[in-house]
Formats: sequence, C-alpha cells, structure tokens
Amino acid sequence: MNVLVINAGSSSLKYQLLNPETGDLLAKGLCERIGIDGKFTYKPQLPGKEKLDAVDVAMPTHSEAIKAVLDALADPKNGVVASMKEIDAVGHRVVHGGEKFAASVVINEDVMRAIEECNPLAPLHNPANIIGIKACQELMPGVPMVAVFDTAFHQTMPPVAYTYALPYEYYEKDKVRRYGFHGTSHKYVAQRAADMLGKPVENLKLISCHLGNGSSVTAVNGGKSVDTSMGFTPLAGVPMGTRSGDLDAGILEYLMNKYGMNITEMLTVLNKKSGVQGVSGVSSDFRDLGSAAAEGNSRAALAIDMFNYNVKKYIGAYAAAMGGVDAIIFTAGVGENDANQRMAIASGLEFMGVKMDEDANKVRGEERVISAADSKVKVLLIPTNEELMIAMDTAALVK
Ligand code: AMP
Repeated sequence: MNVLVINAGSSSLKYQLLNPETGDLLAKGLCERIGIDGKFTYKPQLPGKEKLDAVDVAMPTHSEAIKAVLDALADPKNGVVASMKEIDAVGHRVVHGGEKFAASVVINEDVMRAIEECNPLAPLHNPANIIGIKACQELMPGVPMVAVFDTAFHQTMPPVAYTYALPYEYYEKDKVRRYGFHGTSHKYVAQRAADMLGKPVENLKLISCHLGNGSSVTAVNGGKSVDTSMGFTPLAGVPMGTRSGDLDAGILEYLMNKYGMNITEMLTVLNKKSGVQGVSGVSSDFRDLGSAAAEGNSRAALAIDMFNYNVKKYIGAYAAAMGGVDAIIFTAGVGENDANQRMAIASGLEFMGVKMDEDANKVRGEERVISAADSKVKVLLIPTNEELMIAMDTAALVK
C-alpha cells in the first residue's frame, strides 16, 4: 500500500509517498512559492532515479502544485510508481481539530465543514490545509483521504489539565482551553518507546520532549496524552526558537502601554522575536547558539540554559502529574541531535531515578536508550517521523 502524505501551508506544500506497512519512503519533496512563481523539489528514494532541486514549475494555485507532485511520482523515467492508481490513499496533516476531532478521520463533506469550523482557532494554518485537501480531491477523484490533526492526540487530557483559570464562559462559549500541538509526533514516539521497552504502551508513564524550533513536552499516561506544554496556541510552554513560551500576561499591558504597541505588534514580538532568539540576540538556531556560547557569548549561554531549565521543570511537573515516570523521550531537531542539551536537561534529575549513560548519549538521530543500565527511569532518543504516523493512521482508516 502507498500513502501520499501532504502537509499544505499557505504558499508551500511538503509531500512524502510512503508504504506504511514497511515504513519505506518512496519519494519526498516540496513545492514552494505557490501563488508567486513556483519552485518544485522532488527526491526519489529508489536507486537510479534522478531528483529535481527547486526547479521552476508554474504554481498559481495548490492544484498545479499537487499536479506537479503526481506527475513526478508517476513519471515514466524518474517516477516511483507506474501510475497514479498505485497511490491508494492520501493523508493530510491538519493543524487544528478543536474539540471535534479526537482521532484521525476519513474526509467527507461533514468532516470538511467541521475542519472549516476550526479555522478561527488556527487562522494561519487550517485554511491552507483545506486548500490542499480540495486540490487533491479535484485531481484524485475516488482516492480516499484522511485528515490527521496536530491537536487530536491531546483530546484525552482531563479538564484539570486543559481548563484555563478564566471566566468559565470563555471555555463554554468560545472554546478557549488548552489544545496542545505536535500530537502526531508525541503519539509516534510514545508508540516507538513502548516497542523499544518491550511493554504495552497502556502500562507506561512517558514524558515526551519534542525539542525543535517549536518545542513541546507531553505527559503520556497509558498511551494517552494527559497534559502538554503548548496551549490554546503553539505560543505556550517552554521558550522556543522565536516564541516566548509561558509568560505573565501582565507583561503585555506594560509593554504595549510603554511602547504604544497594538496587540498584533505585541504578538509579533512574542511569536517571532522572543524565545532563544530574543534572549541571545544571536539566532533562533541552537547550533548557532552553541557556537556563540562556546566563544564566550554569555547571552547565548543564558538562552540555552533557560531553555534546558524550562524543559527540566516540565519533566518534573509531569512526573508529579502522573505520579511517576517510566521513560523520558527526546525527539525533534534539538532532542535528536544535541547530546549536550539532553545531558543538561537530564542532569539533576537523579533524585527521581534518572541516570544518563554519557557514552550512549553521544549519538545523533538514532533510536537508542541513552540512560545507564541501572537507571530507574529510562531515557530514550527516538527520531520522530510524523509523516509515517500520518501514513499509518491513514492506512488503518481506509483499509
Ligand atoms: P526542528 O524544528 O525539529 O527541525 O529542529 C530545529 C532545531 O534543531 C534548530 O534549532 C537546530 O539548530 C536544531 N538542530 C538541528 N540539527 C542539529 C544538530 N546537529 N545539533 C544541534 N542542534 C540541531
């Protein structure tokens, strides 16, 4: 079975063609500058097939972008399938499913309407996801499509975890609550962790640390998300590349009054100019911060330390929330690649049974136990694979 996974943004679209049964990736790529001029990248994973790197392809709309993807995948010379008929289903990443979707779902007209109703919760992302779905439906009539939501995995959170201490009508009337994001990634690594530990996920208390440009920490009890650090939007939680993470809302009034900023300008500061970029003044990229810190830049060092400290605090909080923890998982760009940061986050947690193995931790991008053999709490490095999770969910639903 082959599943095409689509992640559509407003002017770009990422795609992968995967076999969810074997986990094999057949091809992947990217359409960029949709609605501007159009750049197309295609990376077949089969031997002897040639890639295309940011070549010019006119893409006035997402339809031309999807057409370019399908043409490349079934191209007689460099394609990876004989024809479009070998694409059995399409899995679409959708950012926000609100309270309507607690799991992935086969797309029909009712589902499309329900996704549209979630647009106000993710005004930058959901409309683009919908455009991607419609373009695929138009070009692939009869092929089943599935929506996989970033928020769905967190719908198992109990009210104590998702309710904000605001007047309750804002929840009842306006659906203001914690939703959480990166759900596909947290779900995938939790399942892999159970496989690695040889235990049913139902019997495990896990803390999953998705640490990348955007970061979130999730408490997974018995395979279900019971709390997560992102909130109503992906602005909450630990400090990120350019996002502030948690902060005192009183700061907004103070800064807006002082500098005459309106709320849009204030939110641009919180989303785009804060986080480790804002603190360091150097970069949002942890590799740049590491180099700057090594050269003696104290603000870069502070930004890294602050990030690690906040992740550690969430680990402590979630261990308390679950009454213990069996394993801590590191994933995404920083979690998978940065041994120093993993060590800094895990050190000091010896009191709760975490003991790292320094040599095992010297690794990047590879599934591995990085805690010592006698560590009560296992620490796992698990590369995330959201596309494979989307393809697996899609296959399970269309079979
Ligand atoms: P992501 O959003 O998951 O793609 O992660 C991006 C972040 O991961 C950036 O801050 C990168 O600096 C960081 N990252 C990626 N590769 C490495 C690496 N080899 N060492 C340290 N950090 C890395």
